[in-house]
Amino acid sequence: MLQLFDTARGKVVPFEPREPGKVSMYVCGPTVYGPPHLGHGRFSLVFDVLRRYLRWSGFDVTYVSNITDIDDKIINRANDEGRPWQDIAHRCEDVWWSAMESIGVERPDHDPPATAYVPEMVELIGDLIDRGDAYVSDDGVYFSPAVVDDYGLLARQTLESLQAGARVEVAEHKRAAVDFALWKFVKPGEPSWPSPWGDGRPGWHTECVVMSLDLLGDGFDIHGGGLDLAFPHHENERAQAVAAGRTFARHWVHNGFVEVGGEKMSKSLGNFTNLLDLVDSTDPRAYRLLVLRAHYRTPLEISKATTDDAVAALARLDTFARRVGQIDLPAAEPDAAALAEFRAAMDRDLDTPAAVALIFGLVTRANTAIDAGDLAAAAPVAAAFAEIVGAVGLVLDAGGDEVPAEVLAVARQRDEARAAKDWAQADALRDQLVADGWVVEDTPSGTQVRPA
Ligand SMILES: [Zn+2]
Repeated sequence: MLQLFDTARGKVVPFEPREPGKVSMYVCGPTVYGPPHLGHGRFSLVFDVLRRYLRWSGFDVTYVSNITDIDDKIINRANDEGRPWQDIAHRCEDVWWSAMESIGVERPDHDPPATAYVPEMVELIGDLIDRGDAYVSDDGVYFSPAVVDDYGLLARQTLESLQAGARVEVAEHKRAAVDFALWKFVKPGEPSWPSPWGDGRPGWHTECVVMSLDLLGDGFDIHGGGLDLAFPHHENERAQAVAAGRTFARHWVHNGFVEVGGEKMSKSLGNFTNLLDLVDSTDPRAYRLLVLRAHYRTPLEISKATTDDAVAALARLDTFARRVGQIDLPAAEPDAAALAEFRAAMDRDLDTPAAVALIFGLVTRANTAIDAGDLAAAAPVAAAFAEIVGAVGLVLDAGGDEVPAEVLAVARQRDEARAAKDWAQADALRDQLVADGWVVEDTPSGTQVRPA
């Protein structure tokens, strides 16, 4: 059974879905005002791996991730550049999805933009005002976290200590420093929507409450995001849901930070400035392997050096996939012990470093068996390898179309000639392949061919 760290409970707990066989996940998406940064890449990959693993485990997974297309940063950039705010949001959203595609992150089942849910947000805010949990101020509508008994659950702090740490200077429009805006009255040059309290726009913390409950229902299974979102964003989402009498997420899953290390972040030192930069300048699969090699709750160092190392490791996996693609391994079920080991690792709070070690261990085992000519032993190990890399979303370059079937057929004929000790025929077939421009290698498992 899958065990996951739950931020709200502060420990690893069994994952118990709301409904047997089904998992509903909500992961806070990007604010679309600029290129995706490296942290965006990590959370997207972490939750992509979790989603794929749950599906591999037999769950029917519904994955929702929003697009925040109303925000100060979007409006500020639009005003600075003299462009419509929608133009900034739409273009940045396009860039987002193409970046996600390049790192192999599957599109969510639902990816609602905040602007599609403004009337529902207005309705929730009205309900919170009616309940006496929110109030209208001179610049907007604010929520009082003090009405929620266990506010501070995700911050792992009490309301009192959060109150003491809150910035006092911003408190002039609100009753308490921890109060947060649900609705911001329109200022000149800003987009706005109608509301009973005055035209304006929603604060950031309300959209996810409305969208997650609408698309996934009360008590949905997993709410995820980067650790930086646990407080105040997730805390404030949860506070609104609790105050409105709704049951919110059953499990809170947060991934650790990306570290690029102060001055090391500069491009002049050969490191990456954002996700697009990484995708453009290296094998984008390297990011997934780096994410898998680190436990999702630990900090992850992304640099030229760590990605180069991941690229080299990927080359080893690609080489193995190509080798397996060129020999006729007998059909076999994946090695059951290897799959059990994978499941045990992933069920242990997503121990992906152990899963990666297993993947490389399987390469060694299968290569050893192939080198010894024991294809019957290699086949289930190679099948388990393929199954596991697929389950974590690693796409390997098996060289698929590089060597046409008729060329491989000649290589097999040569193996048969060698097996029959017909050396003249074997040499003739080799010469034919070389003349056709192929590099021919003799390996213990037979003739291997690759483009020159
Ligand atoms: Zn959110």
